[in-house]
Amino acid sequence: MTAFDASLDRLIDDLIETLHAKKAIGLSAPQVNDQRQVLVTDLSDDGSAPQVYVNPEILSSARPGIVEESCLSVPGVVGNVVRATRVRVRARDRSGETFERDLAGMDAVCLQHEMDHFEGKLFVDRLSPIRRFLFRASAKAKARKRAVVPESCPESA
Ligand code: ZN
Repeated sequence: MTAFDASLDRLIDDLIETLHAKKAIGLSAPQVNDQRQVLVTDLSDDGSAPQVYVNPEILSSARPGIVEESCLSVPGVVGNVVRATRVRVRARDRSGETFERDLAGMDAVCLQHEMDHFEGKLFVDRLSPIRRFLFRASAKAKARKRAVVPESCPESA
């Protein structure tokens, strides 16, 4: 259970500040190493409309569509994933008040993306198998470049 206390207030302020600093449209608590189920979104151009969702649950979803996503936790990668473009969500606000809201388009997509972070899931996990393969291959190649292993170094030495 999430306590609606000063610590939660600080987390929410921190998330909104980071969201705006990174010019992102969504940010989830696990991305700042906090395991509470809290996420913020702001789809306005000028950062004037931050939305806070504590313990969100999706009550219904409809109209799956293909959307292009990126993520602060996976810099430089953009991929197409299938998401519902309409959802009804139930969540609590920062004071613990329960609300229900219908979201459409990017609002709906962003919420689902941020909720995936609660489970440690990234949008790259939702890419098609071939895209995922290419992503892993390029990540592995990058890791290989970083690891400097002397070739004439037997493991038994
Ligand atoms: Zn993300």
